[in-house]
Amino acid sequence: MLGDAISCQNILMEDRTPAELHALAHKLTELRGKARELDLFTDDRELLSCVSCGLLEDVTVGGVLITYDGERSEVVDSGLRFSERQDGHFSCPRCSARVVTTRG
Ligand SMILES: [Zn+2]
Repeated sequence: MLGDAISCQNILMEDRTPAELHALAHKLTELRGKARELDLFTDDRELLSCVSCGLLEDVTVGGVLITYDGERSEVVDSGLRFSERQDGHFSCPRCSARVVTTRG
C-alpha cells in the first residue's frame, strides 16, 4: 500500500516537473528577450572586443551593455553594438571585422 502510494506520487512528480521546467524555460527566454531590448547584458556570452579597431564591450553598474573605444582613457558609450552573424561569431559595428568568441 505504502509502496503503491510512493510510486504513484513519483509518477505525478515526473509528469508535473517537465511542464514546470518547460514553463520556466519559456519565461527565461522571454526575460532574456526583454533584457536584450533594454540593452541589458544577459551574461549568456563573453564580452566582445575587436582586435582590429579596439572597440570594447563592457557592462555598466546598472547592467547595461555598452561599447567604447579602448584607445581612449574615458569610457563613453559609442552607441554601437556588435551584431551576431550566421556562423555564430560577431561583426564589429565600427570596422566590420569578424570577432571570434569562445562560448561555454
Ligand atoms: Zn572593429
